[in-house]
Amino acid sequence: MKTFLEANRKRKILAVDDEIINLEIIKEILSRSYEVDFAFNGKEALEILSNPESDYSLVMLDLMMPVMDGFEVIRRMKADERLRRFPIIVMTSDKNAEVKSLRMGAADFITKPYDIPEVVQARCQVLIELNEDRSIIRSTERDPLTGLYSKEYFFVYIRRFLPKLADSMDALVLNIDRFSLVNELFGREEGDRILKKAAELIASTILQSHGIACRTDGDIFYVYCERRDDYEACVQKIQNALNQDGPARTLRLRGGVYEPVPGDELPEAWFDRAKAACDNIRDRFNHFVGRYSRELYERVIYEETLIADIDEAVEQRQLTVYYQPKYDIRGDKPVLTSAEALVRWIHPELGFISPGDFIPIFESKGLIRKIDRFVWREAAAQIRRIKDTFHVDLPISVNVSRINIYDPELEDVFLGIIREFDLKPHELILEITESAYSNDENRLAEVVADLRNKGFFISMDDFGAGYSSLGMLTSMPIDILKLDMSFIRNMQVDEKSLMLVELVLDIARFLGVPVVAEGVEEERQYLLLKEMGCQIIQGYYFSPPLPAEKFDRLIQGSTESEDGTES
Ligand code: C2E
Ligand code: CA
Ligand code: CA
Repeated sequence: MKTFLEANRKRKILAVDDEIINLEIIKEILSRSYEVDFAFNGKEALEILSNPESDYSLVMLDLMMPVMDGFEVIRRMKADERLRRFPIIVMTSDKNAEVKSLRMGAADFITKPYDIPEVVQARCQVLIELNEDRSIIRSTERDPLTGLYSKEYFFVYIRRFLPKLADSMDALVLNIDRFSLVNELFGREEGDRILKKAAELIASTILQSHGIACRTDGDIFYVYCERRDDYEACVQKIQNALNQDGPARTLRLRGGVYEPVPGDELPEAWFDRAKAACDNIRDRFNHFVGRYSRELYERVIYEETLIADIDEAVEQRQLTVYYQPKYDIRGDKPVLTSAEALVRWIHPELGFISPGDFIPIFESKGLIRKIDRFVWREAAAQIRRIKDTFHVDLPISVNVSRINIYDPELEDVFLGIIREFDLKPHELILEITESAYSNDENRLAEVVADLRNKGFFISMDDFGAGYSSLGMLTSMPIDILKLDMSFIRNMQVDEKSLMLVELVLDIARFLGVPVVAEGVEEERQYLLLKEMGCQIIQGYYFSPPLPAEKFDRLIQGSTESEDGTES
């Protein structure tokens, strides 16, 4: 069906007759308005029509033919899902045959010898328009820039004409990354040229067999095409071709595929899913094409809900901060020394959402700043409250998502918070996760050095969860090391983990950095860590993260017991 891509094409008619003279007459009558192809018997006609690329708007059928007569052709076409869509005009001189053929499913007839040409033309035209639906034909079919379908027409077309092929067709979405930059940097004209070229390449690379495409939202292409297993290669090929000429040589094209399943009859949803699959590989630069999965769809819906709700969540204080105490275990009795601020979201509809679920979403969308800053301020306020209420200085650590590392205001934000609550910088400990270290070491080293110069304490979070961490310890000064939870979990089951914990404790001792072990759930783990010389412990063994009031009570309890007064 690639000819559908040509704007204003002539519609095609297949004329079937064993007498060449009749075919010539038909062609004579119709060729001004239509492209007329011939078949010389019924069998040949069926072969031509069965080709998936066949895009005839009308079949004109003689009834009396050798090999396979017209009645048999009608019978077979009506019995075949794929062939049923072609309207048939029967050409005959036999009055009885007219009625019989109409009963069998022919749409109309013309009598031989032929009526005056105008009548034949008119009957063909009416039938074609009826079949294609006038309103559709006259709507704005095409995207004027690329000649592809408009989005509206694309969906109408899929819905109306192509579902019969659905079991072998895929929904494919193609997106040119950051295309708006091309317009900005090289001008609209160049942008248009690239879009046009992309459309041509899509037609020649992917639509070869059959299928249709449209352009939407500027730089996004929707393609409904025959299923294939080389989408990666196709998209890569188109990308390479796009980068062959012109000033923008580093365009990235990415795709997403959804395979519609039987009973799944909303083409718009197919393309939403293909688009979700396409967006899913935005950060995976070695992928050209993502595939949709059910989980992906549910996740997309979930993520969109959370993102839409976050502002309200902050305003309405659905976000709250819990505090998980950390204990110094060096002495005879564990002593409360600090706490980690951990955010919680109590969503009015979704209920309790764990930060493990929503933090990564906001991180990946670059929206974590709002949450982090909220938590930092809350934590600072809490430190202040503890000072004022209990007259103790209890540092609290906050998590600093790696994206903040690129925030030029980061230092000012922290300094502002410290000033606002009249704290000393080291009272707000900054936990930076180890994966931030591996991303852009130089940038991170700068930021860490600056913050330390200002007096903040830096804690390396989740140490040992990633790679290359040992080397970094020596190159980047930090104040506290937080051992990843997985070590503690595996310490008793496998010897290697235990040895690694010992090794880390040795290195930390050598560097003069205290180690926090988190995720300590059992007494045995606590005792083992204490024996190996670990200084600080955080975990369910002592306490889960607590809401502020409960945390206050814990502090009250610990200050009273220090005073010798029981609570
Ligand atoms: P994390 O920084 O490694 O925080 C420690 C996590 O371990 C917390 O999970 C805590 O509740 C949990 N935990 C503490 N003790 C135990 C234990 O004994 N056993 C087990 N199994 N788990 C324990 P949580 O609160 O669900 O937070 C998950 C992650 O979400 C955090 O991991 C942190 O990376 C992130 N996160 C939490 N709050 C914030 C925040 O305010 N900002 C940012 N950027 N990230 C946050
Ligand atoms: Ca942490
Ligand atoms: Ca951690």
